[in-house]
Amino acid sequence: MRPDAGKGTRERMRPADDTALTGAPLWSPPLAPPAHRDLCTDCGISRTADAARCARACQFIKPDYSNLETRVHGRARDPSRPDELHFGPFRRMVRAALKSPLAGAQWTGITTRIAEQLLQSNAVDAVLTMAPAPDDRWRPVPVLVTRASDLAQCRGMRMGYAPLLALLEPAAARGYRRLAVIGIPCQVYALRALEAELGFEKLYVIGTPCSDNTTTERFHEFLALLSPQPDTITYLEFRADYHVEIRFADGTQREIPFLQLPLSTLPGDFFPLTCRTCVDYTNVLADITVGYMGGQGEQWLIVRNARGEELLALLGDDVRLSEPGSAGKRQGAVKGFMANVARAAGGLPLRRMPNWLRPIVAWLMPRVGPRGLEFARARVEMKAVETVLHLRREAQRRLRHMVPAHVWKLVEPYGLTPQAGEQTVARVADPPHDAPPP
Ligand SMILES: Cc1cc2nc3c(=O)[nH]c(=O)nc-3n(C[C@H](O)[C@H](O)[C@H](O)COP(=O)(O)OP(=O)(O)OC[C@H]3O[C@@H](n4cnc5c(N)ncnc54)[C@H](O)[C@@H]3O)c2cc1C
Ligand code: SF4
Ligand code: SF4
Repeated sequence: MRPDAGKGTRERMRPADDTALTGAPLWSPPLAPPAHRDLCTDCGISRTADAARCARACQFIKPDYSNLETRVHGRARDPSRPDELHFGPFRRMVRAALKSPLAGAQWTGITTRIAEQLLQSNAVDAVLTMAPAPDDRWRPVPVLVTRASDLAQCRGMRMGYAPLLALLEPAAARGYRRLAVIGIPCQVYALRALEAELGFEKLYVIGTPCSDNTTTERFHEFLALLSPQPDTITYLEFRADYHVEIRFADGTQREIPFLQLPLSTLPGDFFPLTCRTCVDYTNVLADITVGYMGGQGEQWLIVRNARGEELLALLGDDVRLSEPGSAGKRQGAVKGFMANVARAAGGLPLRRMPNWLRPIVAWLMPRVGPRGLEFARARVEMKAVETVLHLRREAQRRLRHMVPAHVWKLVEPYGLTPQAGEQTVARVADPPHDAPPP
């Protein structure tokens, strides 16, 4: 199923609902329709002048992470360095929070603040990101923003995907030479794959992690299971303390333990195959990844290269930084997850916990389950397990090219190894000990 976002046929001058139009609106040009692709999150490339570039730009066709990591960061991930097998190449990871959180942001608004500073300091001509559709706050619409104050309208998380990269050509046509892009991993992969030929003078890439995305239409079905008045839900986040936080238009808030979510009522195809088999949870090709998984209630930054350091430095004294923590053990949680995914992928009903046990386990999980970096490692491993099992079941011929060697390495401890014809490269390359730091 495809999202409607960005299918407009006329140019929209679209201020957000609560902001007056003051002369420098978010700009969302008319877009060509998407070309048909089997596995596709409509990142926008198929709508550009040369749609055939999907063949070399798509993370769902034949991704080459180690080459692109080397091009972007100076070296590929080095499994001998702590956590690089899981999170990709990085210089440092920090727990972070803006001292004065931005209203309407998903967490404290670090992503927005970095982009604002880039515009304010005239380091870029424009920021390419997503705004909410005027008629649906959950539907992402790609926009080019040239004035820092207008980024306030883009804050927050929307469920769904939309053709962000279709705005690269309009950006170039407008004369923007220095660009910042805020994107999720499948968008950032294609952006990096084509970066050299796009010809921008400067490109800053601020990435967020992404998992369990679905179309905005399907997300509305989920909201309807959470509240009799789903239209009043203004915020939702799957937090690292095993709770979903929901906020409502009247200012009230609810926290639901994961175990008590109505997930079992969702149809098997609720999450599209793309998002069940996406191999880049942590946005390894961004200059800086801004997430929360390893943050234990705060934000979690992965600074990947010198440009990422430059982006973090833009926050100056506005940000509070600390060392990320790590606690608990992930293996049991990943094994339990794998058993259930194997049942689901095999068309069998999930093993359900008895209702009486759910509140007890829901109470225990934030206290004894994997926390901080261990939680992030667990989620990355779960995603890797899910990728292999779902592809094996639904598109086995794709495993060979779509699943990089490092993903096989992540699932190996759980007894998942490539079957005949499922892998082209035998194993993760030996660590480049002599490679310079990025
Ligand atoms: C679908 C989805 C799933 C995610 N899953 C995880 C996860 O599992 N673990 C994790 O640590 N983080 C995840 N994130 C990232 C997280 O929700 C926050 O966006 C991130 O931590 C930044 O917070 P912030 O306060 O700095 O962002 P803000 O300052 O509020 O800025 C958020 C930025 O994200 C952009 N954005 C919003 N929705 C989308 C979208 N659908 N596609 C592309 N860009 C969008 C906005 O335009 C804005 O520029 C996910 C994000 C998305 C969009
Ligand atoms: S590159 Fe983008 S548009 Fe092309 S197939 Fe992949 S996700 Fe779809
Ligand atoms: S889960 Fe992966 S494929 Fe799906 S939208 Fe997020 S980054 Fe793209």
